[in-house]
Amino acid sequence: MYKTVKFGGSSLADATQFQKVRNIILSDDERRFVVVSAPGKRYKGDDKITDLLYECQRLAQSGSPFDHVFGRISRRYCSIRDKLGLHVDLESELEDIEHLIENGASADYAASRGEYLNALLMADYLGFPFVDASELICFHDDGTYDDETTQARARALKKYDRAVIPGFYGKRRDGSLRTFSRGGSDITGSIVARATDATLYENWTDVDGFLMADPRIVPDAKVIDVVTYSELRELSYMGATVLHEDSIFPVRKARIPINVRNTNRPEGKGTMIVPDVMSKPDRVCPLTGVAGSRGFTVVTLQKDNMNSEPGFAYRLLGIFCKHGVSVETMPCGIDTMSIVAADAQLKGKLDAIYHDIMAECVPDTVEIASCIALIATVGIGMVRSRGTAARIFTALSDADVNVRVIDQGSSEMNIIIGVEQRDFERAIEAIYRKFE
Ligand code: ASP
Repeated sequence: MYKTVKFGGSSLADATQFQKVRNIILSDDERRFVVVSAPGKRYKGDDKITDLLYECQRLAQSGSPFDHVFGRISRRYCSIRDKLGLHVDLESELEDIEHLIENGASADYAASRGEYLNALLMADYLGFPFVDASELICFHDDGTYDDETTQARARALKKYDRAVIPGFYGKRRDGSLRTFSRGGSDITGSIVARATDATLYENWTDVDGFLMADPRIVPDAKVIDVVTYSELRELSYMGATVLHEDSIFPVRKARIPINVRNTNRPEGKGTMIVPDVMSKPDRVCPLTGVAGSRGFTVVTLQKDNMNSEPGFAYRLLGIFCKHGVSVETMPCGIDTMSIVAADAQLKGKLDAIYHDIMAECVPDTVEIASCIALIATVGIGMVRSRGTAARIFTALSDADVNVRVIDQGSSEMNIIIGVEQRDFERAIEAIYRKFE
């Protein structure tokens, strides 16, 4: 059994957090490959090291002094080292980094140093070898992630018994460093888990796991014990985020489960993300979670005998495609068809789309409703249980919420409803409470 463990920025924000992390790692012999983020916020309003590094690089690029910002970065690392009694030669590392930033180093290089320095400290603290991510993670020259080369290179990790690897970055073929998008250490953890044939990828953060609903709306929302990759995708898509979205792909391919855990409450079991329903125990509750987001527009066309007009949907979707708008969902009736798209996608294009619809689809009526929120009620258990839809709609009717759109995805694991934005919170809470 091998576990890859990844610790996020708040789990490594200062020396006390480092101690917690060390205790977690050393309490389980199977925790052998450790991926670290850069130090995050220690308290509300604090700065993340990554943001400070970007700031230094920006200042340097514009020819402004940046030593005051760099000094804050140096002090944070040195304080962790000194409080833990470590002997890493940070001074010379920091001097090199400052020098390179001063001389035009890229933003990716600057940002990557946050995880690099943290991994040096953690490797020393644990007594594990440090393996640089630039030797393992590869990017194409155009900056996109190169999975094939990475897979071949990262296998080299298997010759280690244990190791600490910095998250977030890798190297292009020309040797220049490249980072993933923000929060990308999650992806590194996932790649390392796959490369080392881990039986589990533990992702340690500062929350107890994925919650069944947004705690700003349902303050007592329970933690989801087990969720499948596909359920998680539906929930994350609707705004429930704890993990970087792209971090699922490497482990998903290898069917390695992910366990999201809380560094500040390690006794909690967290959320287990599993490959499929077979790995998920039978649950009494058909609901895994409910999530949603605001900012959608619904365009509804009505036309008598629409169902017998070949190519109607084709022409309608073609219009959205022509205007470069991606469509979220498309609920249909016999003589009606609705297209739901994000306001951000439609911005500045709605008039032209309306014009094209009138010309190419010749509908009897077109109705455009903006300020719509979409809510996804997700649960693989829905397939096996009757009455889930009835419970959702009873809850909404009891809460006096008017439903504008209904769509049950073909997977039968997600019922999407559209409500007016002002009803958004009330609808989420009503659905959650009905399944409590
Ligand atoms: N340090 C990087 C960031 O703040 C990457 C990470 O923490 O995953 O985005």
